[in-house]
Amino acid sequence: MSKSFDAIIIGSGLGGLTAGALFARAAGNVLLLERNASFGGAATTYQRGALTVEASLHETTPPSAPGGFNRKLFEALDIEEDIEFAPVENLHEIRCPLIGDPFVLPHGTDAIKARLVERFPHQKKNIRAFLRHVWRSRQAVDYLTGAHGGLWRLAHAAEFPLDLWAVYRDVRLSLSDVFARFFGDDEAIKFALAANLPYFADDPDDIWWIAYVMVQGGFLLGGGAYIKGGSQMLSNRLAEIIREEGGKTLAGREAVAIELGPDGEAAGVRYRSTSDGTEAVARAPTIFANAAPHVIEGMLPVASREAFMEPFQDRPLSISLLSATFGLNQRPSAFGLSSYSTLLIPSWMERFSDFKHSADLLSELPADTMPMIAVVDYSQIDSGLAESGLFPLNVVSPDRLENWQDLSDDAYRQKKDAWLAAIIRRLDEEWPGIADAVVEKTMSTARSMHEYLNTPGGAVYGFELRPPEDLPRGMPITNETAIKGLWLASAFAGFGGFTGSIACGTSAAQAAMRDRETSRG
Ligand SMILES: Cc1cc2nc3c(=O)[nH]c(=O)nc-3n(C[C@H](O)[C@H](O)[C@H](O)COP(=O)(O)OP(=O)(O)OC[C@H]3O[C@@H](n4cnc5c(N)ncnc54)[C@H](O)[C@@H]3O)c2cc1C
Repeated sequence: MSKSFDAIIIGSGLGGLTAGALFARAAGNVLLLERNASFGGAATTYQRGALTVEASLHETTPPSAPGGFNRKLFEALDIEEDIEFAPVENLHEIRCPLIGDPFVLPHGTDAIKARLVERFPHQKKNIRAFLRHVWRSRQAVDYLTGAHGGLWRLAHAAEFPLDLWAVYRDVRLSLSDVFARFFGDDEAIKFALAANLPYFADDPDDIWWIAYVMVQGGFLLGGGAYIKGGSQMLSNRLAEIIREEGGKTLAGREAVAIELGPDGEAAGVRYRSTSDGTEAVARAPTIFANAAPHVIEGMLPVASREAFMEPFQDRPLSISLLSATFGLNQRPSAFGLSSYSTLLIPSWMERFSDFKHSADLLSELPADTMPMIAVVDYSQIDSGLAESGLFPLNVVSPDRLENWQDLSDDAYRQKKDAWLAAIIRRLDEEWPGIADAVVEKTMSTARSMHEYLNTPGGAVYGFELRPPEDLPRGMPITNETAIKGLWLASAFAGFGGFTGSIACGTSAAQAAMRDRETSRG
């Protein structure tokens, strides 16, 4: 027996949940299938004893920030009152031998300008020009993507030609290209401006300048925040909307096949219970793929696979991340940690492009040289994660599946333990005494990301965003696939991160609704 729905969503990452909740509000009857035991994909929190572990989120753009996809989603679903955001005061603190004393990069153009000029007075002119360029490029992207309403567009119409010139001038360049034009080989200021690069990429020579403008520009200009109580709060609320609208949300159900209709259009999904292996079929004319295209390919009839996969075949994957969480019995601030987010850049990184070598170090057992790490202390803000009395400290570092995939289970465990110990030693070197306060610890690697998210290479941001060869015609988001009625709704549709996945899910829901209306004539 099969049941019919208006849409089926394969995977409950943020892109799938966004598409599902928006489509459910418009059309009602939606089925969400998730192979894991809880919803959210990377946007998840879980317990390890008394420790609440945030699986991903450090910072995202709060929906209160003007424009942007988070705001649009929250307004469209009317959930501004349901999810609380804890503001993050500064973007991050950087501890980098090349910069000297710890350097705190604030949010907001004027504050950033003042702080940078104070530390790098010889670059005053270039700092101003660079920040103006980021601001103009970001305005143009917002204008072109319709991030703001009509009034904002009217008010900015006069500046638009200059903004447009800023964005088109560099639209085919990498971050390294633009940094070199403004700062030459002054590597220290590049670290000061983008030491958090590994949050979304690890090779500045390959990452698209516009990706920096969208991600970092958003934080620099608009500020950042954490979802109080953890990213699971948002995932749960979006899943709840699907149920409120009469839909069904099933965890522990793995989609195994996509069934097509007589004209090759999406028609249904066969799925299997991960607990008892029983199978069922659900029918719907619209299917949102939150699982990676590489996984969806294997669910399609053999004859349809090549056409479906053709646009994605040669696209490089984004980075993966190693993520370690420690539960401390004292606040990290007791050991001198004073920022929500601190980036520890090792002394071997002398050039900004050295970021690309950081993940290589994880291919071996730890030695003297450590990778770069980002440290987040959730007890510095009102995160809601330290209620049990254990204070969570999270560390992330760029990682790759190759570092872990060929190890036996025993060797994998031993290597993980060795790296956990090395990270604790590194934290203790920076903040003496902190190691003794660690009472709980857990670590996920690129292999865990691959297994949990079912993404190729354990990618956490979809595909890598490289500079395009041709002039792009709009937002770098592609929801449409070669299969009619099958839409991509994940980081793989465009770009990742919370805002990116939400943007991809929003545009998937909009595209599917438009298609539905056209089909109905
Ligand atoms: C450690 C870490 C830190 C991060 N920090 C930040 C941050 O501070 N700020 C930020 O903006 N972003 C951050 N990110 C990135 C962000 O979390 C992701 O880019 C985003 O959540 C990806 O969403 P997605 O919609 O692509 O789906 P994913 O989260 O990749 O989820 C895909 C889902 O599909 C399910 N699935 C796969 N195959 C099937 C199947 N056959 N059947 C059923 N279900 C299936 C998976 O189980 C999974 O639940 C971080 C990520 C990680 C891992």
